[in-house]
Amino acid sequence: MTPVAIQKCQRYDPELVEAAMRRALDSLGGMARFVKPGDRVCLKVNLLRSSRPDQAVVTHPSVVRAAVRLLQEAGGVVTIGDSPSGAFNVGVLRRAYKVTGYEAVARDTGATLNLNTNSVHLANPRGKLIKRFEVMQAVVDADAIVTLPKLKTHVFTHFTGATKILFGVIPGVTKAGYHTKLQNVERFSEMLIDLLTLLPPRLAIMDAVVGMDGDGPSGGRPRPIGLIMASPDSVALDVVATTAVGIKPLSVPILRAAAERGLTGGQVSDSELRGERLKDIQMADFLPAQTSRLDLSRLPGFLRRWVTDQLVVRPVANPARCTGCGACFVDCPVKAITMSDGVAVMDPGTCIRCYCCHEFCPDKAIDLVPGRVSLFFTSKKR
Ligand code: SF4
Ligand code: SF4
Repeated sequence: MTPVAIQKCQRYDPELVEAAMRRALDSLGGMARFVKPGDRVCLKVNLLRSSRPDQAVVTHPSVVRAAVRLLQEAGGVVTIGDSPSGAFNVGVLRRAYKVTGYEAVARDTGATLNLNTNSVHLANPRGKLIKRFEVMQAVVDADAIVTLPKLKTHVFTHFTGATKILFGVIPGVTKAGYHTKLQNVERFSEMLIDLLTLLPPRLAIMDAVVGMDGDGPSGGRPRPIGLIMASPDSVALDVVATTAVGIKPLSVPILRAAAERGLTGGQVSDSELRGERLKDIQMADFLPAQTSRLDLSRLPGFLRRWVTDQLVVRPVANPARCTGCGACFVDCPVKAITMSDGVAVMDPGTCIRCYCCHEFCPDKAIDLVPGRVSLFFTSKKR
């Protein structure tokens, strides 16, 4: 049975986080089980965008610091890296490392911050959907990938954790191409599982001290959860994490795709929990993304895809909050956004409901408003 370690950790004080992570790793047999002396480790953080740690969008620097220390104790040579949304260049990375606190972590620990923005094409002959990926060179150069996902809701994939975090290895705006080609979340999830099987991390350590609920991964609300979790199996970790916050694992498209390939049964009982018991940590009031409040998992595939494709909610920039920065305009994969009088305007006919704009907007200026289908059902109920 795959082990999943769970430890309580209520605050981001560096010594508390390191102690919790150490207990979690000890229960898995120690970091030396995953990293050998001299291994070059790519420590893949969730660096969605340049964002302060208290906003709960990125992996907290205390978690990054603790992971670096444990990896270095095991003899690993650590490079911290990710490809944020939007442009992938040295200027963007330097700014993001500074704002997130990773620059200070690197300075204090001697870890390297990745500034290599080159990419490499990797053949993926065993992929179900994607036979060739373009990925950051930094992950290919490493002997091992260790991920530090943050537990958050996600308006497109419903949940983001240890499996979804790997999407960040696809460089910069290349990510937008996958949203354009794979507009259906079921197909997008198949792509993520293809990526996981191509680049399986040796270990995932989840930052669930403060996660995000509501309309994550950046527009929701920071949510204290009080946990550090870890497992060598990213899918198993996500199954336990979703269950801990009251989300049915198989209601999450990525975990459904994993289950269809036999990577999980979608049950916590598939794993051996080490540390806290599930009943002592489960939350009852974690708010799902409004795009995922319907559990479509029992619908047959063809119907599920049709319903998923419908206009459940669509993005609309709120003129009172939109600063006209243009980030959404630049990054929309299908160019559905225009700027009008300094405010972003989304064309509902062109928009593919990938919610990248909602994810990227630095000012939480994009509202998700009910689409025609949900309005129809709402009016019927009245
Ligand atoms: S990213 Fe946000 S603030 Fe910037 S233009 Fe778009 S909606 Fe407005
Ligand atoms: S407008 Fe927003 S949700 Fe629609 S396609 Fe563009 S980025 Fe995606």
